[in-house]
Amino acid sequence: MTFSIQGLAVARGIAIGRAVLVASSRMDVAHYFIKPAEIASEIERVRAGRNAVVDEIRRLQASITHMGPKEAPHELTALLDVHLMLLEDVELISGVKHWITDRLYNAEWALTTQLEVIARQFDEMEDEYLRERKADLEQIAEKVLRAMKGVASPVVTPNARSTRKPSQQDLLLDDTVDVPLILVAHDLSPSDMLQFKQSVFAGFITDVGGKTSHTAIVARSLDIPAVVGARLSSQLVRQDDWVIIDGDAGVVVVDPSPIILAEYGFKQRQGELERGRLSRLLHTPAVTLDGQKIELLANIEMPEDTPGAVKAGAVGVGLFRSEFLFMGRQGKLPNEEEQFQAYRRAIEGMQGMPVTIRTVDIGADKPLDKSLKDDAHLNPALGLRAIRWSLADPAMFLTQLRAILRAAAFGKVKLLIPMLVHASEIRQTLSLIDHARAELDNRGTPYGPVQIGAMIEIPAAALTLKVFLRYFDFLSIGTNDLIQYTLAIDRADESVAHLYDPLHPAVLRLVAGTIAECVAQGKEVSVCGEMAGDVSLTRLLLGMGLRSFSMHPAQILAVKQEILRADTAKLAPWAEQVMADEEPGQRITRR
Ligand code: PEP
Ligand code: MG
Repeated sequence: MTFSIQGLAVARGIAIGRAVLVASSRMDVAHYFIKPAEIASEIERVRAGRNAVVDEIRRLQASITHMGPKEAPHELTALLDVHLMLLEDVELISGVKHWITDRLYNAEWALTTQLEVIARQFDEMEDEYLRERKADLEQIAEKVLRAMKGVASPVVTPNARSTRKPSQQDLLLDDTVDVPLILVAHDLSPSDMLQFKQSVFAGFITDVGGKTSHTAIVARSLDIPAVVGARLSSQLVRQDDWVIIDGDAGVVVVDPSPIILAEYGFKQRQGELERGRLSRLLHTPAVTLDGQKIELLANIEMPEDTPGAVKAGAVGVGLFRSEFLFMGRQGKLPNEEEQFQAYRRAIEGMQGMPVTIRTVDIGADKPLDKSLKDDAHLNPALGLRAIRWSLADPAMFLTQLRAILRAAAFGKVKLLIPMLVHASEIRQTLSLIDHARAELDNRGTPYGPVQIGAMIEIPAAALTLKVFLRYFDFLSIGTNDLIQYTLAIDRADESVAHLYDPLHPAVLRLVAGTIAECVAQGKEVSVCGEMAGDVSLTRLLLGMGLRSFSMHPAQILAVKQEILRADTAKLAPWAEQVMADEEPGQRITRR
């Protein structure tokens, strides 16, 4: 039966494929396709893993039989019996074989997929005792996965088919192997998303998350359709269901009828044609009708993103979120050399164009590791995040600063500091930058010049610009946080996402005020939050006087199209009117 789930539109486009449900806790399990010739060895890997766990349990049982009833409580023996029974469960074994043989999933992926199928059945059981056996199932799967780690896995070969769009024919014939896969999860951390940069998935759906949560931001940078905040989707969608993601409308359609499939297939082709049309603008300079030259920069997460930025026509990197180099490493931070090499790769990747490296912005929805998620503090977004985190650990911060300064010897680098608010923090930061230079001098290590800038992403910063203008070479407006902190809306919380409004008059006043003040003082200013890549806001930002936009590479051409049609002389008075409105959103056609 067809049904739809409303979520939040994150990354545009339509994806049609089969659902792959992945538990958030198992996101680090490898997902790749094997070759048909590898089916037997892959099944053998699971079998060997399972046998190792069975042997371990049997050994434990044997040692227990020598104990007296006091040391070997009845619960423990019963538990081991249950674990053995689950390991021998026919449905588990045959299901895993099915995913490997019929879908060519690698062994770990096949095991966790089948685990999800069975876990769902446990959830639906009336009997509480049986329902609770789900935890045992999780435990044995965990053990098998661990045992499999010792068994060599074939080389990961992402299969080309994953990026292929299915034809209408495929969909109607219900071709089970060669169709795109849609990842469905309760939640994904930003670092999980990063893993999927090279992934086999054609789209993402999550139950939770706001439109500008960092998970959504990374999804957007992958440039594949995604919907977040589609509540309960990980419970309502079943493994292998056909699903459609409408990334423009934020809708998920489950088990679509042939008519609906045909309709979305048509929409998908229209989107591809539109992209084709936009690609013709690649070499067109971003200049408005009245001759204003506009700078279009890229936001990146990793040095490996730079070829995509160059290909999209970016004239530099306006925001390198360096924290992604620090995440998902079990707390082991990258040392100076590793960071230096990463920054250097990004600089060289941009082929002489400027690269703005933002110092780490760890905290809130970007924990160093999922397991280190800050649940201890009531308001992590207001806590030890970004520059506060860096200033609390000067040795770590100095390491990063030295790496950036060294990399600056290889190209034009701008150093950007996130979440500053106090003059004292500014002075402390600048003195640490001097200190890092002095350390390099003492070591005799060469380094290059950097321009230093601050992010304006806290209302207090936007309201005390004078201090920032005095100390910094340039400013970059982080609208994602500026909106969050101005409106007191958690950007990652889908339950208040309808109140997260870039067009609230207070937000517009802070953004416009910052741009105007910078223009008046001849200071460089750009917007690097998601507002910069939102085509429905391009004209408004141009009208406010903005001439530098930084966004995901995939959004550059669409924004350029808006710029080519704009006349800033006319937009300036119009923007004034919009800002004076009680509900400015009413004059803007959201796309
Ligand atoms: C912002 O807050 O707008 C920004 C660009 O930084 P981040 O999204 O990484 O917090
Ligand atoms: Mg921010």
